[in-house]
Amino acid sequence: MDAICRPIALAPCTSDIHTVWSGSIGERFDLVLGHEAVGEVVEVGALVRDFKPGDRVLVAAVTPDWSSREAQAGFAMHSGGLLGGWKFSNSKDGVFAEFFHVNDADGNLALLPAGMDLAAACMLSDMVSTGLYGVELAGVEFGDTVAVVGIGPVGLMSVAGAAIHGASEIYAVGSRPNCVALAREYGATQIIDYHVGDIADQILALSGGVDRVIVAGGDAKTFVQAVQMVKPGGCIGNVNYLDEGDHVIFPRLEWGCGMGNKSVHGGLMPGGRLRMEKLASLVVTGRLDPARLVTHRFTGIEGVEQAVMLMKDKPSDLIKPLVLL
Ligand code: NDP
Ligand code: ZN
Repeated sequence: MDAICRPIALAPCTSDIHTVWSGSIGERFDLVLGHEAVGEVVEVGALVRDFKPGDRVLVAAVTPDWSSREAQAGFAMHSGGLLGGWKFSNSKDGVFAEFFHVNDADGNLALLPAGMDLAAACMLSDMVSTGLYGVELAGVEFGDTVAVVGIGPVGLMSVAGAAIHGASEIYAVGSRPNCVALAREYGATQIIDYHVGDIADQILALSGGVDRVIVAGGDAKTFVQAVQMVKPGGCIGNVNYLDEGDHVIFPRLEWGCGMGNKSVHGGLMPGGRLRMEKLASLVVTGRLDPARLVTHRFTGIEGVEQAVMLMKDKPSDLIKPLVLL
């Protein structure tokens, strides 16, 4: 049922940085890093129906076991246990290699649409899927006011996704100039700089409270601020990978002493073929242009290390690096 692919485009993720430098999902030894790739199929198992060697494929960062009980319950990303669908560089070797293995190829690969730019295709694997998942978790509806906390590549896709989902005002929190400029182009109506003052104060002063908060960055205070700024009946969708501390703090009073009808959903991006095909169709139809996230390009496998170090250091002109092979 599985496939072996060779990467043709790769990108490092902030989660790779958490994995290596903060060990925040637990110690990982002797694992190849990386979970964002576009690939070419090299070999398939006898039970693979729809893919053959030579096919160029989109590969989701999360590759669930589709027959698992968790998948049947609607949470395939946790197949086999908490975060179990996230296999690359978590429970098995990742994609920064000459070849990588994809479980359940028919369920987890999607054909690369003809003519699709490899930068856009590589962003589909995680940035688009995760950023848009933040929008889904927060439940953005037509006319909602939305705060997007964090406008790195993930949050930028949340901004774009919120706009596609019918948000009205979009308050985008971040400061790097390239990210701010792109946030405006993807649909942000106001930019909030967290260096200037408390973001909840700033957003409350402008809006009186928002319907949805998408958390795609921030620090230990972010949930306090998110609960403060969301209206009763509103929802917080978190896709940020919380990499330190043992507890997430909620402000009791602003959470209505537990009765504020302010809900919080946090999730790992869904993987799988259908999602990749649907997200790719947004690119093919011109509704979304994720290639604009790519600010730095490298060629050859030796470029991976430079790309990873860029992602770690986050220079002010960086949004996302891409490596073409
Ligand atoms: P980046 O580091 O590029 O972006 C982080 C954003 O948060 C930046 O805009 C940054 O602002 C902003 N920020 C930093 N500190 C604060 C603060 N104190 N208050 C408010 N905003 C702040 O990250 P990525 O976009 O690459 O990734 C975002 C997160 O998503 C990561 O934690 C990553 O691990 C996670 N992730 C989760 C996945 C999932 O499935 N749930 C999958 C993929 C990634 P500035 O402009 O100043 O830099
Ligand atoms: Zn990732």
